[in-house]
Amino acid sequence: MRIVRTVADLRAALAPVRGSGSVGLVPTMGALHDGHLELARQARADNDAVVLSIFVNPTQFNDPSDLAAYPRDEGKDVDLAASVGVDYVFAPEVTEVYPPGFSATVTLHGPIVEALEGAHRGVGHFQGVTTVVAKLFGMVSPDRAYFGQKDAQQVRVVQAMVADLNIPTQIVVVSTVREPDGLAMSSRNRRLSPFDRARAAHVAEALRAAELAAAGGISDAWSLLHSARKVLTDNAIDVEYLELVDADTFRPIPVLVTGPAVLAVAVVIGGTRLIDNVVLRQGSAS
Ligand code: AMP
Repeated sequence: MRIVRTVADLRAALAPVRGSGSVGLVPTMGALHDGHLELARQARADNDAVVLSIFVNPTQFNDPSDLAAYPRDEGKDVDLAASVGVDYVFAPEVTEVYPPGFSATVTLHGPIVEALEGAHRGVGHFQGVTTVVAKLFGMVSPDRAYFGQKDAQQVRVVQAMVADLNIPTQIVVVSTVREPDGLAMSSRNRRLSPFDRARAAHVAEALRAAELAAAGGISDAWSLLHSARKVLTDNAIDVEYLELVDADTFRPIPVLVTGPAVLAVAVVIGGTRLIDNVVLRQGSAS
């Protein structure tokens, strides 16, 4: 496995594969865990060459202290990437991605970027995501790119971007990988104190409560949200948002109907912001 720092080196490395074989890209911000590795395993199974990018993208952080505190451990990341068969770790410097004079942005509009994370982290968050993902797609020209359902809204935004801009990359969505107690794996989990780490399991428990309610035939949003919120408030967890939205439009929905819905949550536990979600369908959990 090779570590590549520049776009020129990456293109040269991938040139022999183009045309004859497929390239899979796993975009990450590093501090890899088994959720990221699951994306990489899937990419390995599907493609001839696998690129895992590590870039803590400054433009998608609304809070400078959050950016400063973001965990970084490239040495360990490289070992983990090698262990699942990644061919190239692409870890550019900030100036390689945003050289002096850089001025482009990729901006989507509407509820998929304005709801939930967009409302709480600011519209600049998804603008930062779409701009860097579009750039990574331009740098790597992947046949397939792998994203986690853990960031359900991000997946939807990236899907909309590739459709709107006719980017010929297939977006592959990988199920959320969880700890044994249900907590969705996240690079941020390592910031939790042991006490807060134990409390964080209630986030998944809250989603599970709504999932069970939906499986039991409850379909109105108020009741579903109430069953989840009760678990969170009983455990004194600060809720930033808890919403039931249409999985396609990300508009809030009052009742589950035939299409899938996303029950999405953001909480702050001991100063660490965590997000999670579950897909609900009328009369059944999925
Ligand atoms: P990040 O490094 O947090 O930007 O995440 C990089 C990619 O890994 C994104 O597509 C995430 O959705 C995905 N990811 C992060 N955590 C998980 C998880 N627990 N399960 C599945 N995918 C994940």
